[in-house]
Amino acid sequence: MPMEEQKTLVPTVRFSRIQSPSSINTFKQCPRKYYYQYIQRLPTTTSIHLLRGGIVHSTLEDFFSLDVTPALKDLFSLKTVLIEFFKNNWNAKQKELSRLGLAEEALKFYHDESISMLEFWFSSFSDKLSLLSKKNNVADAFKLLTPKVEQEYISTKLGIRGFIDAIHEIDGKVIILDYKTSSKDTMTEDHKLQLAIYAVLYQENHGKIPDCLGINFLKFGEKYIDVDESLLLSAKEEIKSVHEKTSSTNINNYPKNVTSLCKWSTGQCDFYDTCFKNY
Ligand code: SF4
Repeated sequence: MPMEEQKTLVPTVRFSRIQSPSSINTFKQCPRKYYYQYIQRLPTTTSIHLLRGGIVHSTLEDFFSLDVTPALKDLFSLKTVLIEFFKNNWNAKQKELSRLGLAEEALKFYHDESISMLEFWFSSFSDKLSLLSKKNNVADAFKLLTPKVEQEYISTKLGIRGFIDAIHEIDGKVIILDYKTSSKDTMTEDHKLQLAIYAVLYQENHGKIPDCLGINFLKFGEKYIDVDESLLLSAKEEIKSVHEKTSSTNINNYPKNVTSLCKWSTGQCDFYDTCFKNY
C-alpha cells in the first residue's frame, strides 16, 4: 500500500534503506523509476485510484472498530453504517478529490462504484456473520470476524517493512488479506510478491508462517495463493537482491525499462518528463 512510503524510514546500519513491497515492485518494474522515487525522492502525484483506495480502506477500518452490541438484530443497519462511514471518509477528502481535476461525472462514477464494492463486500460479510450468529450472539460473531487492521510490520534483519490490511485469527488459523479496489481480479506477480513479503514479515515477528494469504478484490471477492517455505524463500531472495542492486546512488546503475507503463492513453509515469528530458 502507498502508506508504506508515507511513514518515516526506520534507520538501519545494514541497509541503504528499508524496502517495502511497493519499493521492490517499483524496482522490478523499472530501476530508473525506483531511482527517481526512492533515491532522488522526486515528488509523486496521487490518482483517483490511490485516493479512492485509501478512502475504502479507512471505511473498512472504521467498520471493524464498531462496538456491536449483543442486542443487534438487524444486520441491514450495519450495512447502513458501513455506507455512512464511506460517505464521511469521501467527504473528508473533498479537497484532494477536487485537486485531481476530474469531471463531476467521473468523480460520481468512482463514488458510486466504491459504494457498490462495499455493498458487495458486505453481502459476503453478512453471510458469514449470520452463520456464526447461529452459535454465538451477534456481538461475539462480529468480534470473531474482525481482523487486526492496518498492522505495521518491520524486519530490521531483512530491511523490509509493510502494512498488512487485515489479519484474521480464526480457529487457530492465521489468514492475511490485502484489500484491493482494482477493476480486475487478476492475481499478478506483484500481488503474489506483496503477499509473500507479508508472510515473511509475519513469520519474522511471530515465528509462524500464516496459514492463508489472499487478496480481497472488493469488486469480485477473495482469491488465495499457496503458502509454503519456498514462497517465503523466494520473497527473501527478492528482498536481498533489491537491497544489493539499490545500494548505489549513481543513476547509471538504474537502467530505464521502457514499457507501456511509461505512457498510456490516459496518463504517464510520474517521472516521464524528467526521464525523457534529461537522460
Ligand atoms: S518513464 Fe518509463 S523508463 Fe522512465 S522512469 Fe518511468 S517507467 Fe521508467
